[in-house]
Amino acid sequence: MAYLPDVLLYFTLALDPIHVGTGGARLGRVDMSIVREPGTNLPKIPATSIAGACRTYAALQEPDKFPHCAGQGQAQGNYRGHCGKPDCPICVTFGFAKRAGGGFQGLAQFSDARLVLFPVHSLAGPVWVTCSEVLGDLGIVKQEPQDGQVYVASGVKANGKLNLGWLMLEIARNDFSLDGKLSDVPNEIQHRTVLVSNKMFAHIVNDNLEVRTSVSIDPQTGAAAEHALFTYEALPRACVLYFEVVVSDPRFYQVEGKTPLDGDIAKVKRTVISGLKLFDSLGIGGMNTRGMGRLRVLNLGNGGVE
Ligand SMILES: [Zn+2]
Repeated sequence: MAYLPDVLLYFTLALDPIHVGTGGARLGRVDMSIVREPGTNLPKIPATSIAGACRTYAALQEPDKFPHCAGQGQAQGNYRGHCGKPDCPICVTFGFAKRAGGGFQGLAQFSDARLVLFPVHSLAGPVWVTCSEVLGDLGIVKQEPQDGQVYVASGVKANGKLNLGWLMLEIARNDFSLDGKLSDVPNEIQHRTVLVSNKMFAHIVNDNLEVRTSVSIDPQTGAAAEHALFTYEALPRACVLYFEVVVSDPRFYQVEGKTPLDGDIAKVKRTVISGLKLFDSLGIGGMNTRGMGRLRVLNLGNGGVE
């Protein structure tokens, strides 16, 4: 019998703007740009950011049992590094760093978080834009409208034309609806969805990202530092993204010569879910001190659509 790992699919709603930076790359007028997919130029949240935050928050919940298992794991000075024990849910789920006994990749592998619904202002109120290519990657088949046209859901009250920011488009259909796969997305969003062409989607997203200006504070004077005005971009509040977690069965692995977590795959999933639960209070990415980064996982109740 072929063995297939379990795939958990999670949808998330941004409760704040989210900035996961590229680490200083300057893009046009923006000093701190966010990470994008190379092919489509769409912003994304890299898998490492999601897995790292999930690991930290899962470990936070049992600080007495796993005090060393949250961070990067390389032993340094007084820090012992990851415990790497076969009964440690943090190390077995997220992996541990290489040391004398060798490293372990971890049984939960995270994908990047990709955009599926992106909020834009229109004269008909806020609408959430998507396209058939993005939906197709989720296994949802929708016919693509022409470049100057949109298909709108029933909650978008507009006659003939709809503006998305500065862009005016023709409404070709007004009976668009999302697939049941997205049923955990709030109804207010589902009913205000707008399908645009694949080409338009990337343009609309990149034209409507948040760009904020901030100042660095000089710690010695407590005032704004000289030449410290900087701009940064972020995914806006209320955008919907999705990511997958591929969970492998511990029965097929060995850690220190033992089957990890008693061979119970449910323990791996519980560890992942315990970490994801804190995303909506502690957030992910940078600029958390500027009120950014909180992300609600919408379908934690059933442990992820399988
Ligand atoms: Zn550990």
